[in-house]
Amino acid sequence: MVKRERLGVILSESRLPELIASLTETYRIFGPSKKDDGESFAAIHKSEELALDYGNTKMSPKGFFFPQTESLMWYDSADKKAKQDKPEVQPTLLFGLRPCDALAISYLDKVFLSNEPQDPYYRQRREATKIVCLACNSPSPTCFCTTVGCGPDSEKGADIMMYKLNDRYLMKALTPGGEEIFTNIDVETEPATSQDIVEKDDLVNKACQMVKRFVDIDEFKEKLNNFQGPWWEKLAQKCLGCGICTYFCPTCHCFDVTDEVVKQSGRRVRTWDSCMYPLFTLHASGHNPRPGIKERMRQRIMHKFNYAVEYYGETFCVGCGRCIIHCPVNIDIRQIIMDIAEER
Ligand code: SF4
Ligand code: SF4
Repeated sequence: MVKRERLGVILSESRLPELIASLTETYRIFGPSKKDDGESFAAIHKSEELALDYGNTKMSPKGFFFPQTESLMWYDSADKKAKQDKPEVQPTLLFGLRPCDALAISYLDKVFLSNEPQDPYYRQRREATKIVCLACNSPSPTCFCTTVGCGPDSEKGADIMMYKLNDRYLMKALTPGGEEIFTNIDVETEPATSQDIVEKDDLVNKACQMVKRFVDIDEFKEKLNNFQGPWWEKLAQKCLGCGICTYFCPTCHCFDVTDEVVKQSGRRVRTWDSCMYPLFTLHASGHNPRPGIKERMRQRIMHKFNYAVEYYGETFCVGCGRCIIHCPVNIDIRQIIMDIAEER
């Protein structure tokens, strides 16, 4: 058991294998792991499988709670039988998550859990999962977390916060869930000292300087309300409407529910959907209130920076940069924000 200390505890990097071995006795662990095309979340059985010196994973972790495809129920209308699918859950740890992704999960919690009825599929997975966050020492060039209310050491959504200090980790439990993790691990640690905190603050300051704030986000939000701004048309000329930006985004959460039926039996399936697709808003009458890419792009940006603020009090962009990295025609959301803020 790791004792609770006021400033947190220090774990020597050489003890990481022991930490992971101890955690695997209680939890299924997923963490960043090196693959051919960058880092992805993978099941971790020993510390060597972890790649903690990463920028961010290609896919966000939202699929752990809100899978790309999931079966909700089975039915047989001949037998008049139906059965709800239950997610298979077991105690799980997301280890080494970046702060922006943990913050995004706290936003998804608002979407799926803050109103009645809660989403039972999301809730079961979420309740079984704890999050150990790793602060960023070297943010990627596409990161802009500090512009949108996040940061390299943002704690929201994390149960434990970890900071890499040279050859040691500073770890601090932030929630009762984090303290429970500490009670379940058997590894030698030392109490953190005020010198460790100075070292940590120095690393965080350096990381913040690497992620430059590039725009006054409040000014941008004021201008955003211009539904007829010329920037929407400009964006529509470039965007392919492929939806990749929404699939990679850790906060995008639109889905479709379809029935897959064979004769009289079938299953009801939920799959990720995207506001960038024309079918997303197509009415049965044939009318489409968002007929073109211009309207759909406007919806995507308005949802993140306007409607989500109105519904949930949060900006649904955490500045992870995934949509910038993966857009096939190099549309950069930072440029969109700047163009709107400067009314270009
Ligand atoms: S909009 Fe882009 S930068 Fe913002 S959270 Fe989504 S993927 Fe990340
Ligand atoms: S990834 Fe780029 S091209 Fe594809 S829908 Fe998003 S902004 Fe448009």
